[in-house]
Amino acid sequence: MTKLLFALIPVLIVLSQACAQHPLVLLGGTLIDGTGTEPKFNPAIIIEGSRITLVGTLELTSRDGKIVSRIRTTKGVIDVPEDADVYDVNGKVMMPGLIDAHIHYDGVERDLLQMFAWGVTSANCMVEATDRALALERETAPDSIASPQLYATTPIFTAKGGWWWGKDFRDDSTLNRFPATAKEARAQVRRVKAKGIKRIKLMYDDMRWCRDTLPPLARMKKNVMAALLDEAGRQGLIAEVHVPQMKDAKEVLAAGFTPKGKALRKDTLRQSGQIGSFGFAHGILDESISDSIEHIMIDKGTFYIPTFCVFEFLANTRGFLQHAMGDGRFQSSLPQDVVQHYLSSEYYERYRTRYPNSAFVSAHMLVLFRNTKSLVDRHVPVVMGTDMWALPGIGAHLELEYMVQAGLSPMEAIVSATKMGARFLGREASLGTIEPGKQADILLLDANPTFSIFNTRSISKIIKQGMIYDHQELIERSKKQ
Ligand SMILES: [Zn+2]
Repeated sequence: MTKLLFALIPVLIVLSQACAQHPLVLLGGTLIDGTGTEPKFNPAIIIEGSRITLVGTLELTSRDGKIVSRIRTTKGVIDVPEDADVYDVNGKVMMPGLIDAHIHYDGVERDLLQMFAWGVTSANCMVEATDRALALERETAPDSIASPQLYATTPIFTAKGGWWWGKDFRDDSTLNRFPATAKEARAQVRRVKAKGIKRIKLMYDDMRWCRDTLPPLARMKKNVMAALLDEAGRQGLIAEVHVPQMKDAKEVLAAGFTPKGKALRKDTLRQSGQIGSFGFAHGILDESISDSIEHIMIDKGTFYIPTFCVFEFLANTRGFLQHAMGDGRFQSSLPQDVVQHYLSSEYYERYRTRYPNSAFVSAHMLVLFRNTKSLVDRHVPVVMGTDMWALPGIGAHLELEYMVQAGLSPMEAIVSATKMGARFLGREASLGTIEPGKQADILLLDANPTFSIFNTRSISKIIKQGMIYDHQELIERSKKQ
C-alpha cells in the first residue's frame, strides 16, 4: 500500500532536538523515572539522538569564581558536554511519556495530535485490517510526527453477527476475521504471524452486560476462541481478549496458552509480573475475581487492562463527560463546538440507544475497581489503557485518576502507564522508563503527580525521541484542525 492513509505532516513547532553532534541535557527539577522508585531530585539527563545516554545528578560547583553545573554519575563527576544544548528544568517534574495500551483510531488526525499533546507518546492501537495497522505503525514512528508512536494489535477476530464497528471501518481482504472452525482460526493466526504482526485481538462477548434489552450479539464459538489463543501462544504472539464477563473470562483462562519450559516459570512470573501470551483487554465487570482465578492469572502471566474510562462512559455517559469537562484544562484544550457536542443531549441519546444497559454497568463499577486493586496487590500485570474514542489523550489522565480511586497509589498508577505499558508492548528494553539506553520519551510537568495524580495534567513539554514539543502549541494547532 503506497498511499498514505492519513497526511501526518511533520510539525514545525519543535523547540529543540538532540542530534548526534549536539546532545540535549536536561538539568534540575524532579525525576519520576517510571520504575516505581522514589522521585529523585536535581537529576541530570543526557540525550543523544533519540536515546537517553546518561542519568545522573546535577551538582553545582564553583570554578574560577563562577557557579558551574556538573553531573555526578556512578563513575564520578563529569562536565556537561561542551557542545550540549542545555535545558534548565528547574521547578519541573519529569516522567516517562504515557503509554495507552488500548486505543482505537478512526482516521481523525486531530485525535492523534491531542493524544500527543496530552503526553501519550506510545499507544497500542486496535485495528481491524492488518495492512492499515502496519501502515499506521510506520507513519507514526518518526520523531518529527506529532503523534504517539502507534503499535498495532491486528486484526480483531470476531464472529459473524458478533460485534461490528460499522461500515466506516475497513475490513481485511488478506485474511478471515470471522473464522468458523478451529482449523481456520489457526491458519489465520499463522498468516498474521507471517506478516510480522505481534499482537491480535479477539472479541469474546455477547455484549448483554451493556446492550440488554437489545438482542445479544453472536459470540465466537468456544473452540474457535481456544484455537486462536493456543495458536497465538505457539507462534509467540500476544492475544488480547475483549471479555468483560466472568463466565467467559473463565473459559478464556482455561483455554489460554500455558507455556512450557523455561520462558515463564511460575516463580518468576509471581515475582516479576511478567507478561504471558494472552490477557484481558478490559477489566472484569460483573463478578469479583476469586483467589483461585487470581492464581491462574498469576501462573499464566495474564495481563489485565482495566479500561475504567470506557466503563464509566457506558455507565453514565453524561456524567463522565461532565466530570471530564469540569477540569478547565481539558475543556479549554478542545474547540468549543466539540465541548458542546460532548455535552449535548444528542450525543448522550446516541450512546444510550446503542448501549441501553447503563444501569448494570453503573451498578458494577465498584466490582471493577476492587478487581483491579486486588490484582495490583498480587502483582498481576495491570496495564493502563482507556479504550476511549471520545476525549483522546484526556482519557489517559482520567484513567489514572480512576486507578487511584480504585486504591492504587499515584506511583502504582504511573508505573502501569509507563513501565508496565512498555512490558506489555514487548519493548521494556527500549521504552517506558527514564534510564540510560531508553528512547527519550519524557514529559515535563509543572507539578508532582506522586503528590496528586491530577498533576499529570500539568504538562508543559513533551519529548518524543529527543525532540521537544510544547503542549500549548500542540493544543492550539489541534484546535485549528
Ligand atoms: Zn476497544
